Amino acid sequence: MKRFEDKVVLITGGGSGLGRSAALQVAKEGAKLSLVDLSEKGMEETKQEVLAVAPEAEVLTIVANCANEPEVEAYVKQTIDQFGKIDSFFNNAGVEGTQNLTEEYPVDEFDRVVNINLNGVFYGMRHVLKVMKEQGHGSVVNTASVGGIRGIGNQSGYAASKHGVVGLTKNSGIEYGQFGVSIKAIAPGAIMTPMVEGSLRQLGGENWEEAGKEFVSVNPMKRFGKPEEVGYLVAFLLSDQANFINATVIPIDGGQSYKY
Ligand code: NAD
Repeated sequence: MKRFEDKVVLITGGGSGLGRSAALQVAKEGAKLSLVDLSEKGMEETKQEVLAVAPEAEVLTIVANCANEPEVEAYVKQTIDQFGKIDSFFNNAGVEGTQNLTEEYPVDEFDRVVNINLNGVFYGMRHVLKVMKEQGHGSVVNTASVGGIRGIGNQSGYAASKHGVVGLTKNSGIEYGQFGVSIKAIAPGAIMTPMVEGSLRQLGGENWEEAGKEFVSVNPMKRFGKPEEVGYLVAFLLSDQANFINATVIPIDGGQSYKY
């Protein structure tokens, strides 16, 4: 089954982690890819991994900052110039930020995290939804987090931005369903990517792997998620099979969000 034959899939944060995993999954099923990231090196690695599993895949890589609106407009235009359409959009780039009590959370860090995670997702939808509305079809998957549907603690910027992503998803899904466009968010729990390793290093320093074991000991499944497990979900949600799933948020967290 090739769900992405002749489909164009745009992925932000395509140079690492969940973006890379989704890229691999949809490319295996025939997608043409437009990858966006700050990291040229990361995208080149993704491209090589994609070509190893899908040698015929067309892969456009665009270095852009998702928190900068003109750069977002430009990455959408470049994708259209290259491929003529955008069938599916994984609006995924994000950062975690520092971990502090609210009173110690630096204001400039709050602004930085919200700018990337929330404004970046809004800018992406603002420009891509215009294209999809004209096409009369499209699917958008925004990356929220388990931290977008419940409190985690010590993550003011992250929690605010990811709750905001859930709100944007519900709002825009209501607006665009009538144009044949579905919009959903995913809420991953702890998935072992470079971002989570960075977070564990903040918690545990050199003993970050021990901190990781303790962290997942409270998860009902007692383990981290794997990036490919998220890639499978995202591929389904980006495909035509998920057209009627709209304006909602789907957890993928081993049950973590229901436990607390
Ligand atoms: P990652 O750090 O492996 O990948 C994130 C990618 O986004 C990197 O390649 C980075 O260069 C890129 N990026 C960061 N800021 C950018 C910007 N301003 N413009 C363009 N690119 C930018 O992290 P990941 O775990 O793959 O995270 C992807 C998304 O998933 C994020 O939104 C994150 O908040 C979310 N998430 C991750 C987890 C997890 O456990 N890994 C859990 C919940 C949510």
